[in-house]
Amino acid sequence: TVELSAVPSLDHQGEAKIILVFHDITEMKRSEKGLKDFVANASHQLRTPLTSIKGYAETLIDNPPSNPEDAKFFLEIVLKNADHMDKVISSMLALAKSEQMGKQLKLAPVSGREFLNRTVADVTPWAAERGITFRIQAPEDDMYVMAEPDGLLHVFHNLLNNAVKYSPDNGKVTVSAEDDGESIVFCIEDQGPGISREHSTKVFERFYRVDENTIDSSSGSAGLGLAICRRIVRNLGGEIWHDGYGEDIRGARFCFRLNKSGPPA
Ligand code: ADP
Repeated sequence: TVELSAVPSLDHQGEAKIILVFHDITEMKRSEKGLKDFVANASHQLRTPLTSIKGYAETLIDNPPSNPEDAKFFLEIVLKNADHMDKVISSMLALAKSEQMGKQLKLAPVSGREFLNRTVADVTPWAAERGITFRIQAPEDDMYVMAEPDGLLHVFHNLLNNAVKYSPDNGKVTVSAEDDGESIVFCIEDQGPGISREHSTKVFERFYRVDENTIDSSSGSAGLGLAICRRIVRNLGGEIWHDGYGEDIRGARFCFRLNKSGPPA
């Protein structure tokens, strides 16, 4: 997209001239559209639970239930929807923060093995409730990547939480780390429904969800998790992708690569 502006000026003989200036505003238009889409999506994500909260609150005012059990039932729905809004807002703030942080991140060597063990341990109790177990595949020797600990923690937690969320009961989640020479590639693979090729890059877009109905809206799922992961991994100088299409892969498999580093000094 090009925008044209006319600037009056005098040439070297003192004659009035008009200079036409062409500005390439493609990028600006794109970011304007991005902002509009973001606001529309965000409003939708928040309005749905808000409508429900208002509806139940009005019902409670207009027809107060005589039975405390009925009142509790309504209030629990109100609370569930408020929790959902809370999670969506936290995700939006996390996305905004990751987009802002961009270049100012201070990267330092971080132990890959420590992160694998720690983050798997964090989600294990929750996964165990449905009999889901983890297998860690990593080289004997520790490996170090250039990263920023909070960001890396966020990425691992998000991918592991998704793997557990979509796993069948008693499923196995495999978490691996591999040294490919210049970088370390971390992968998280589950045995859930997987993601078809047509959706495999779109799932990283903001607010994108493969099936709006697969997960009940009260789970706080807004389709922002992977967008945040991609932003963080890119901030760390790496890349993230989905590649669950190998012969022996049954579910989804998300991988990300980060630059290798030596151990901390
Ligand atoms: P959400 O907050 O909805 O989980 P994400 O950005 O984390 O958002 O994921 C986007 C979409 O990608 C999800 O709604 C889901 O459709 C799909 N997805 C993510 N992880 C998995 C997985 N491990 N297995 C199957 N589908 C997944």
